[in-house]
Amino acid sequence: MSWEENVRKVVPYTPGEQPKIQNIIKLNTNENPYPPAPAVAEAIKIMDVDRFKKYPDPSCSVLVDAIADFYNVSSDRVFVGVGSDDVLAMAFLTFFNSDKPVLFPDITYSFYDVWANLYRIPFKQIPLNEDFTITKEDYFGENGGVVIANPNAPTGVELPLKDIEEILQKNRDVVVIVDEAYIDFGGESALPLIDKYDNLLVVQTFSKSRSMAGMRIGYAFGNEKLIKYLSDVKYSFNSYTMNTPTLELGALAISNRDYFDKTRNMVIGTRERVKKELKELGFEFADSKTNFIFAKHPDKSGKEIFANLRSRGIIVRRFDLPRIDEYLRISIGTDEEMDTLIRALKEII
Ligand SMILES: *Cc1c(COP(=O)(O)O)cnc(C)c1O
Repeated sequence: MSWEENVRKVVPYTPGEQPKIQNIIKLNTNENPYPPAPAVAEAIKIMDVDRFKKYPDPSCSVLVDAIADFYNVSSDRVFVGVGSDDVLAMAFLTFFNSDKPVLFPDITYSFYDVWANLYRIPFKQIPLNEDFTITKEDYFGENGGVVIANPNAPTGVELPLKDIEEILQKNRDVVVIVDEAYIDFGGESALPLIDKYDNLLVVQTFSKSRSMAGMRIGYAFGNEKLIKYLSDVKYSFNSYTMNTPTLELGALAISNRDYFDKTRNMVIGTRERVKKELKELGFEFADSKTNFIFAKHPDKSGKEIFANLRSRGIIVRRFDLPRIDEYLRISIGTDEEMDTLIRALKEII
């Protein structure tokens, strides 16, 4: 017998490439093209490194309170983690502890099945419709939990909030996770529903709409009992998930509502313009409520366009998976970056 028989073997999630080369246009991981709120740059310049001798605040209260304040919820309904990936991983571990399968779509954030496999949670992937919409009734049967990315990734399609609420109504006996990584780009958040449904966990992130993917800040809202269960698992795993500078810079970033609105509206404006230009070039895509567009072209393969863009220093994301391998997921960059992309596509198509 070999020690390898006792190893927990997993097929890991593959993150989008973070290229080391300079002067590329990076439209492959849905980062925000604009810098974080100005107070972040100011604060980091004068940060007192002497404080790094001490452990950070395990309750993360400066950040939790700032998030609670921004969204006008009480602090005991907020949980924070090292990106929403960390929050979601903790939530899977905490809430999906049944023999029945957890339900999520076949085309969605490709980390869900990785966590389910890692924790040996049974799961069932439910096919999206041809147009990438969700049929809510598919989630009404018996299950061990439900996970919905809304708007969905990588499709960009939003499930109307009334459908989310119906899924909640039919699933009072399990936890329903709504992953709202892209909600700030035009979707309707399920956050107000936490008052009505104590089994709802709404997960958001600083990585997209708040321009801080590199800092790793994710957060979740839920009934205080739900949040307490999540915290108990966190403290059983790693008490100090978040570091001192991240807690402080995150709190500063979220307190600037004007900057947040300005930059997300810039991204939305660029997205709407790029939609028109892609349409004119013959691209086909479902309507996106996110900071990316998931598009295919009837005359050119996704593989070919991807490779051609790459040779020009423009990196987009392509998933080599059934049903979506012809599609490119194009993040919304600055106006100049998107102009360069459109010029390139005009030459390629
Ligand atoms: C980007 C993303 C996340 C993870 O973001 P973090 O950087 O870990 O906060 C989670 N879910 C979806 C659907 C995403 O697209």
